[in-house]
Amino acid sequence: MASRDGDGWVACRCGARHWGLHGAAGLVLWRPGADGPQVLLQHRAGWVHDGGTWAVPGGARDSHEDPVRAALREAAEEVGVRAQDVEVGATLTGTDHGDWRYDYVLAEASPAAEVHAANDETADLGWVGLAEEPGLPLHAGLARDWDRLVAAVTAVTG
Ligand SMILES: [Zn+2]
Repeated sequence: MASRDGDGWVACRCGARHWGLHGAAGLVLWRPGADGPQVLLQHRAGWVHDGGTWAVPGGARDSHEDPVRAALREAAEEVGVRAQDVEVGATLTGTDHGDWRYDYVLAEASPAAEVHAANDETADLGWVGLAEEPGLPLHAGLARDWDRLVAAVTAVTG
């Protein structure tokens, strides 16, 4: 088990605090659906930062992790998805403030992939179709990047 040295707040030059001493990453897990691709969203538990909103599973990177490794580890911890059941695609930078960055890792879920609320940071999970507005209160960062992510997933799914 590698050491977990990424947990902590960064006082960023933008004036905000961000979670993740070495930045953070999230997994945009998608699967084909009858009406086009669907993305897995996590309803964040009320007690976590920005709790009660919907986001993609993810969290702080450790110093030895690239965004892909961090996103896969966090997704395994939070929603139970196994790395061998996903096919990692492109990485998109969501935020880069110099002092802190957040990257999205796109990945296709294989038919064998199973997800469940695997820890207490996860209140609920849902597969959300990309064909229309999600109709859920999105985490502010995800709301800002949503259209780009939809475009990126749509591009790889045709
Ligand atoms: Zn910042």
